[in-house]
Amino acid sequence: MNLCDCGTIKRIMEGAGIGFRKDLGQNFLISSEVPIRCAEGCEANENTLILEIGPGIGCMTDALACRFRHVVAVEIDDRLIPVLAETLAEHDNVTVHHGDIMKTDIAALLEETKARYGLPSDIPVAVCANLPYYITTPILMYLVECGVKFSSITVMVQAEVADRLTAKAGTAAYGAISAVLAYYGEMKRLFTVPSGCFMPQPKVNSAVVRLALYQDNPYSTKSEKVLFRTIHAAFEQRRKTLLNALSSGFSNIGKDKLAEIIEKAGLPPQIRGEKLDITQFVTLSNFIYEETEIL
Ligand code: SAM
Repeated sequence: MNLCDCGTIKRIMEGAGIGFRKDLGQNFLISSEVPIRCAEGCEANENTLILEIGPGIGCMTDALACRFRHVVAVEIDDRLIPVLAETLAEHDNVTVHHGDIMKTDIAALLEETKARYGLPSDIPVAVCANLPYYITTPILMYLVECGVKFSSITVMVQAEVADRLTAKAGTAAYGAISAVLAYYGEMKRLFTVPSGCFMPQPKVNSAVVRLALYQDNPYSTKSEKVLFRTIHAAFEQRRKTLLNALSSGFSNIGKDKLAEIIEKAGLPPQIRGEKLDITQFVTLSNFIYEETEIL
């Protein structure tokens, strides 16, 4: 069964008596080439355990199951669980978990799956998903903070979000999420997916990006909490100078002290936060941590 075929999807949905839920970001892929390219884009070997978020009716899951050792797919929509049991019946290496990814203990789910299927405890784990667009950034943050050492996170997102995720310091698209994710790994845009590749067709194009996660973080951070607070403060008021933005974000540190810290970090006094790359944010936040009683 070709799960990326328009007619097949319609038949499956009608057969189950269900429609697409816009509020859950249900735009299903109708191009069988795209899931294969996503699976290749993971750059993971075949002995990998894949976490998929939002399998829908299983178009991407099918491609992932054909290529990788095991797939765990987390789907929030209870109406799709019996559908997936049928569409993925031919694969014995897929586990469908009904739940909200944002409320799922991902580390525990992966451990359970390894134990149940006799997978090696040190099997590489990667994420591959066509993400629901209403919740892209929170999911990405949840994934990097969930305590699992993924080798990579390959996701389809709206093209404009892909621009933000891959933006370099000083560009218009560069934002807090670009800097925060750069702390965790190297982000790369892989390819564009036209809106015509989905049903129902969204208004905008999508793109696939891959975050290759650092297995040993190269940044010597004194406090991740202060680092992320510094980044968020800098972008909260991105039109202001870094000094003014930090004065608002760290109102309990005096402006003179912050000016001194900015100078110690080797940054020009009038610089804007949006010009700083992740290395500069780490240096700056280390000075904030060391020179103040923040925390
Ligand atoms: N993977 C399918 C495909 O590519 O055709 C469907 C992708 S569709 C863009 C997003 C999927 O994520 C939907 O199946 C939706 O029900 C599911 N979803 C939405 N929010 C979710 C959440 N918080 N946790 C898990 N799945 C979610």
